[in-house]
Amino acid sequence: MTNQIEATANKTDINNAFETLVSNQYKVGNTLPEERIQKLSRLLKVILDNRTSIQNAMMADFKRHPLETDMVDIYPIISEIKYVKKNLRKWLKKQKASTPISLLGSKSYYKYESKGVVLIISPWNFPFNLSLIPLVSAIAAGNTVILKPSEITPHCSSLIKSIVEEVFSQDEAVVFEGDVDVASHLLTLPFNHIFFTGSPRVGKIVMSAAAKHLTSVTLELGGKSPVIVDETANIELAASRICQSKFANNGQICIAPDYLFVHKSKLEPLIQALQNKIIEFFGNTPKESESFCRISDSSHTLRLKNLLNDAINHGAVIIHGGETDENTDYIAPTLLKDINMDSEIMNEEIFGPILPIIAYENINDVIKHIQDKPKPLSLYVFSQNQDKIDYIINNTRAGGGCINHCAIHFYNHYLPFGGSNNSGIGKSHGFEGFKDFCNTRSILNQKYPTVLDRLVPPYNDFKQKIVDFTLKYL
Ligand code: NAD
Repeated sequence: MTNQIEATANKTDINNAFETLVSNQYKVGNTLPEERIQKLSRLLKVILDNRTSIQNAMMADFKRHPLETDMVDIYPIISEIKYVKKNLRKWLKKQKASTPISLLGSKSYYKYESKGVVLIISPWNFPFNLSLIPLVSAIAAGNTVILKPSEITPHCSSLIKSIVEEVFSQDEAVVFEGDVDVASHLLTLPFNHIFFTGSPRVGKIVMSAAAKHLTSVTLELGGKSPVIVDETANIELAASRICQSKFANNGQICIAPDYLFVHKSKLEPLIQALQNKIIEFFGNTPKESESFCRISDSSHTLRLKNLLNDAINHGAVIIHGGETDENTDYIAPTLLKDINMDSEIMNEEIFGPILPIIAYENINDVIKHIQDKPKPLSLYVFSQNQDKIDYIINNTRAGGGCINHCAIHFYNHYLPFGGSNNSGIGKSHGFEGFKDFCNTRSILNQKYPTVLDRLVPPYNDFKQKIVDFTLKYL
C-alpha cells in the first residue's frame, strides 16, 4: 500500500546510542520492580492516549479496519502490560532452590537478572503488537533496548518511535527506523540478546550474526500452519473460526491457517460453509468491504499472485475468489481445491488470503505430510473426538496451536508463544517472554563447614571411603 522508506538511521548515530545503552545497563538492570512497573504504566498510558493514531497509522499502511487494530494490535499489548505489571514483583524475587544432602551446610537460590543491551527487530504484519510486546518483556527484565521496526509499514514505525521516545529516555530504549541496511549494521554490534520476529530466511541471517558474539536469540519465525478438520468436526463452527483467522489482517498472520486438510466425507459441506462465511463476513464484493484490509505492499501482492498462478498451472481449481489487483494490493479471499502437493503454494508460507483445501481419507497420510515438512508454528485440529485429537497432537510437532479454534492461543499470556526449529527458537509472552530476556543466575551460599572442605588433596583411603559412601547412598 505504501512506498517503502529509505533507511533513516545512520551508523554513527546507532553506534553512539549503543555505547550509551552499554554504559547505562547496570543502572537500568538494578532498578527496583516498582520503578519498572511505573515505566510500564507510562507505556500503557501513552499507548491508550495514541489509540486513534495507531488505528490511523494502520489504516494508512494497509487499510486495516480500526476495530481489527483494536483486537489484534492494541488489545494484546494492553493485556500483556497489565499481566506483567501484576506479576513482576514475584518474578524478580530471589527464588529458593533445594539443597542435596551432599551439599549440606549451604543454601542456594537463583534470580532473573537482566542480560544487558538487547536488540528487537520486528516485522510489519502486527507492527505495534510485535514491537511493543517484546519491548515490555525486555524492560520488565531490566535491559536497555534498541528496537528496529519494519520499513514496510512506515506510518506505524514512525509512531512506534514517537511512543518509545515519549516513554523512555535515550539511555534506556531507542528506536531506529530503516531497512535491511540498518538491520544489518545493528547485527554487527555485540548485543547481549536479540529478539527477532520475521521470516525463517532472515531468522537464519540473524542467528549467524548473533553467533559471532555468542549472543543469545529468541527467533519468532513463520512457516506453514496446517488445519485439520476431521469427520466428527462441527462444520459450521469450523468454517466460521477458520475464516475469522485466515482472513483477518488479509491472511498476513504468522499463525493463520496456511492450508487445510479435511476428511473427504466433509469436503463439500465444509467448502459450502466456508463460502457462506466469506460472503457473510465480506459480502459478494470483498473489495468494497471496510472489514477486509489490503496486502502490505506490491512485492507481496505480486508474490501471492504468482503463488496462485503456479497452483492453477499445477491443476488447482479456484472454488471461491481468485481476483487479484496489483494496483490496489487486493487479493480476494480465495479457496482452492485439487491441489498438487509439488506446487509452490504447498511449499512456501502463503501469508495472504488464499486457502488450499485438501481432502483426506486416512489421517496417517496427513500426519506423514506434516512430519515430513519443517515443524509448523501452529497446528489446528477441528474434531469432537478426544482420541483423534490426542492422536494427531501426539504424532506431530509444532510450536503451539488450538483445538476447535485457530490462532487465539496467541492471546493467552499464560501460554508461552513461539515455534520450534524452522518456526522459531525461544518463547515470548508472559513469564516465558520475560525469562528469554533474563539470565537465570544461580548462587550457592556456603554458610556452614562442609564435607567438601575435607575432600582436598592429598587423597587417602579415608577420603575415598567418604566418596564411596556418597556415591552409594546420597
Ligand atoms: P522479514 O523477515 O522479511 O523482516 C522482518 C524484519 O527483519 C524487518 O524489520 C526487516 O527490516 C528485517 N530484515 C529484513 N531483511 C533482513 C536482513 N537481511 N538482515 C537483518 N534484518 C533484516 O519478515 P516480514 O516480511 O516483515 O514478516 C513476515 C514473516 O514474519 C513471515 O514469515 C511471518 O510468518 C513471520 N512472523 C512471525 C511471527 C511470530 O510471532 N512467530 C509474527 C509475525 C510474523
